[in-house]
Formats: sequence, structure tokens, C-alpha cells
Amino acid sequence: MQSNHQNEVKYIESKALFPFIKRLFGYCLKYKLWLWVLLSAILVNSFTEAILPLIWKYLIDETLIANVSGEKFSDSFHIGWHTIAIFSIYYFLILALNYVSEIYVINNTGKMRLHVIRDLREEMFRKMQFLSYSFYDKTSAGWLIARMTYDSERLSELMTWGFINFTGSIIMIIGCLIPMFILNFKLTIIVLVSLPIILFISLKLRSMILKYARESRRINSELTGYFAENLNAIELVKSNAIENYRSSGFSGINKRLKKASLTTSIYNAIFQPLLVFSGSIVAGVILYHGGYMSFKEATISIGTFGAFFAYVRNIFMPVFDLSRTYSLALSSLSAGERIFSLIDESIKIKDNENSILHTDIKGEIEFREVDFGYLANQKVLKKFQLKIKAGESIALVGPSGEGKTTLINLLCRFYEPVSGEIIIDNIQLNKICISSYLKQIGVISQVPHIFTGTIKSNIILSNTNVSDEDIIQTLKILGAEELILRLNEEAGNEGESLSNGEKQMISFARAIIKRPKILIMDEATSSMDAITESNVRKSIKSLLENRTAIVIAHRLSTIKECDRILFIKEGRIAEEGNHESLILQRGMYYQYYKSYSKDFSEIQNN
Ligand code: ADP
Ligand code: MG
Repeated sequence: MQSNHQNEVKYIESKALFPFIKRLFGYCLKYKLWLWVLLSAILVNSFTEAILPLIWKYLIDETLIANVSGEKFSDSFHIGWHTIAIFSIYYFLILALNYVSEIYVINNTGKMRLHVIRDLREEMFRKMQFLSYSFYDKTSAGWLIARMTYDSERLSELMTWGFINFTGSIIMIIGCLIPMFILNFKLTIIVLVSLPIILFISLKLRSMILKYARESRRINSELTGYFAENLNAIELVKSNAIENYRSSGFSGINKRLKKASLTTSIYNAIFQPLLVFSGSIVAGVILYHGGYMSFKEATISIGTFGAFFAYVRNIFMPVFDLSRTYSLALSSLSAGERIFSLIDESIKIKDNENSILHTDIKGEIEFREVDFGYLANQKVLKKFQLKIKAGESIALVGPSGEGKTTLINLLCRFYEPVSGEIIIDNIQLNKICISSYLKQIGVISQVPHIFTGTIKSNIILSNTNVSDEDIIQTLKILGAEELILRLNEEAGNEGESLSNGEKQMISFARAIIKRPKILIMDEATSSMDAITESNVRKSIKSLLENRTAIVIAHRLSTIKECDRILFIKEGRIAEEGNHESLILQRGMYYQYYKSYSKDFSEIQNN
């Protein structure tokens, strides 16, 4: 399978980074009110954080120091209980405000993230429903599942926590710098010069941690893939007794994951404290300078010195946060690229404003010189010509891989012909509104698909107008009376509680209950057991009545009921007629049927 990765736009490397970030932020902008409230909470939080050192400075300078003369407290040293009380109240109020705003920020960012992730997933899922078949030819299910789960988690984290942390850090840095400048210019300049250095060091350390984290993530997805694959093939594992073989395969990946994770955590253990330590170097420089200015030169007060020291510690936290956001951005931007490449994928086959709402199809079908291939230079159908009258039933037979299913794919508009036209009741198919058209077509394919839910819900799908009476009637026609009593039974995950025959009966009922004008059966009975198949065979005559039908089948009994048989070979109609005339021709159909029914005739002859 061709990977979809080539389609991803490289935002980071291209100049499109700014629009990309703008687009990311757009998801939060939907929640404007929340953003404003969050911003206010961040402001309150930063303000309370930035004001605390000032209170300490005031307490030290205005009360304690003012009362100290020389080396002893002056005789008049006296701080009234009310001063202490007022300080305590201020202190308490500010801490309480800080605490409340912090809770608010954490809680609401978390909430906003859940909304953003919901929006992202909804947008992706909706898009996936409408994307054409050809998209799924080049995209693996695993790739899509990873976008839905892991990538949307990461991207939503960047969109919310990333933005909030970034904004909060910038506000906090500014909030600390302003009082610092007011307190002392020279010391602030020292801090200001050191900030970019600290930021640079921490960004460097972060990207080193990230490198190892990426490797463990890569192995982690390998492990998940192995695990999922094994779950789906557990029958294969058991029937071939390869439990040990598969286990050792898992062990190998698991060991590599452990090794990579260990390296990551060792680097984390070294780098995280190193980050804090780099901040401490600046704090040390400030301590020395400030101490000198305060105690030796007496150019600043002890309170100022203390406050400064607190600010230096306060200002490094947001710097570290910035580097954390940066590393989150680095690791999530590629998730964003992948998600947007999915959301931006163009829908190749869709209605346009001139599409005709054709709600009453008669069922006349014509293929006019249709050329088609799935891949460039591949020719599955070559100038294919076919006219089917309304109400006529035709059988398509022939060896596999010759283009029978392809004809159905084109008729259902899963793909467009490369050239030529498909005409329904004298209207070009690509001019008919797709959903209105497909509502009138019943398709039963070889592999029945079952959704989680009851048997009934699997028969009616989205059509709630169908009455129970209709369902019962349909199941009776199909000879599937035993399902009537089980309509409210759960089908289980992917229909695991049903037999293959039962699943196929459900998909027959699903198609028939639509009362389709065109009925298509693509090897629909080939996976059925003999008894179920014989039930369907009995009802086939009534299924084909009053509608156009295309039946792809190998069993003669099914084919014989059709008005016309077409033998398809190399994307063309090689022979055409009813069973008797084709047998008389002694051509390909005759040969095909001779080999196909050899086993049957041998059994019969014995
Ligand atoms: P059949 O007559 O057995 O129904 P199909 O119509 O399914 O044959 O297939 C016709 C040819 O088209 C085959 O060679 C098959 O390999 C090829 N083909 C079918 N589906 C695809 C696809 N999604 N991508 C590429 N090639 C395809
Ligand atoms: Mg087929």
C-alpha cells in the first residue's frame, strides 16, 4: 500500500509556519469567551506572583530595617500587632487569589482541550466519511487510526496547553521585569542579558531530550502495530501453534522500547536538573552583586536585595516553561501536519450545484465506451459497452480479476471512469445527486459488514421509517425466519456473535428493505453455507422482480434466473446470451462452466 505520508505538507520547513500556527489557534478562537476569561485568570495569576516579593521588600525595609540602628534593635523597636495582622491578611488574600486563578487556568485549559480534541476528531471523522474510495486505496487503516487517537491528543495539547503556557510565561516574565526595573536598573540588566542565554541552553537541552523521546515513540507505535495485528490474527496464531514465535517477536520490540525509554529517562534525569542549575548560576551572580550593593555599598536596601533574589527565581520558571512549550510544539507540529493533510484532502467525487435530484429511478443503465484503471497506465475496463433495460436482470460471470467488481464500483460512483460515460435513465451519472441515487440502489457484496448494535439496527441503518412489519416481511422473503426472533439481539463487535451466513442474510435484508430500483449482488452467496444459500436461491426470483439487477455469481442456479448472461474477460464482454445459447457456442463460457462444474458432475455421476 502506498503511504499517505508523501502527501503531508511540510509546514515546519516551508514558509507556511505562521499561517499554520494561526490555523492551530483558530480552533481555540471558537471559544472566545473562554479565552478572555483564561487570559484574565492568567493576568491575575501573574500579578499575584509578581507582587509577593514586593510585599516582602516592604515588610523588611519599612518595618524591620527601619527599626534597626547599628547592630542592635533600637529601643523604640516596635511593630504593632495590627501591622502584622494587615500583612498577614494581604499575604493571605494574594495567595488565595493566586491559588484560585491557578485552579481556574488549569481547569479551564483542560476543558478547552477536551472541546478542541472533540472538534478535531469530529472534523476528521466527517471528512473520512465523504472521502472517495481512491483515498482508502492509498491510505492504511493504521495511519488513520493513529491520526484519530495519538495525533489529535498531541495537537490539542499544543493548541491549548501550548498556547496558554506560552502566553502565561510571556506575561509572567514581563510582570516580573517591570517591578525589577523599578527596583534596580543594573541588576535587572544582568538578569535580562542572562535570559536569552538560559533560554538558549534550555532549548538545546530540550531538543536533545526530544530526540530520544521520538525514538521511543517510534518503537512504541511499532509495538502497538504488532499487538493490534496479533489480536486480529489470533485464530491464525492458534491454528498454527506459533504462540512462542509471535511472543518472541513481541519481546524483541518490547526490549528495544525499554532500552530507548531508559535512555530517554536517563537524559531527562540529567537535563532537567541541569536546566534548573543553569538558572541557579544567574541567581548566584545576582546574589553576589546584590549582596555587594546592599551590604558593602549600601546602594540598595536589604529588602530590595531580597525581592530581587525572589524575582530571579520567579522569572526562570516561565523561561523553562517556554522551552517546554517549544519542545511540545516541535513534537506536535508533525501531528498537526498529518491531521491537516487529512482534513485538507480533496473529495474527488462529489455533487456540484447543478446536480440533479433523481428520486425516482427507473433503472435503465448504460456504459458508453468506458475506460477505467485504478492506477495510471492500468487498464481494467477497455471501451466497455453495455446497455441494461429497466427491470432487466443480468449476470456477470468470468474468471476473477477481470473487472466485474470494477463495473459495480463505477456504477456506485466509488470511482469515475477515465473516459466514457455511464448513463442512468438518459442522465449522465455524474450529474445525478449521489446520495439520492445511492438510496435507490441495493448492494450486497461478498463480505458482509456489521456495525456494533442490534441486528435490527444493522438492517435498517439510518432509515428509521422502516416498520418492524417491513423487516419481518423481508426476512420471510429471504427465508431467514430464525432472525425474526433475534432482531433485538446485539450483533457484537463486527458481528462476532453471528455466523457468516447470518451476517450475509442481514446484508441481504439491508439491501432489499430499501426496495431498490437497482439491485447488485457481487458474489453475495459465495461465502454462504449450502442451506442458507439454498434459501436465498429460492427467493432469488422474487428479489429480481420489478427491478434492474446485476448479479455476479458462479453458481449456475443463481445465474440461470437472469435474463441475460455476460461473460467478462479482460475488461470486455467476451460472450453474451442465455445459458443454453452460450453452452451451444462452445466458447469461453462453455469451457469455464465445464471446469467449474466438473466436481459437481463427478459427484452426481457417482
Ligand atoms: P473481479 O472481476 O474479480 O471482480 P475486479 O474488478 O475486482 O475483478 O478487479 C479487476 C482488476 O483491477 C484486477 O486486476 C485487480 O487487481 C485490479 N484492482 C481491483 N481493485 C483495485 C484497487 N483498489 N487498486 C488497484 N487495482 C485494483
Ligand atoms: Mg469481484
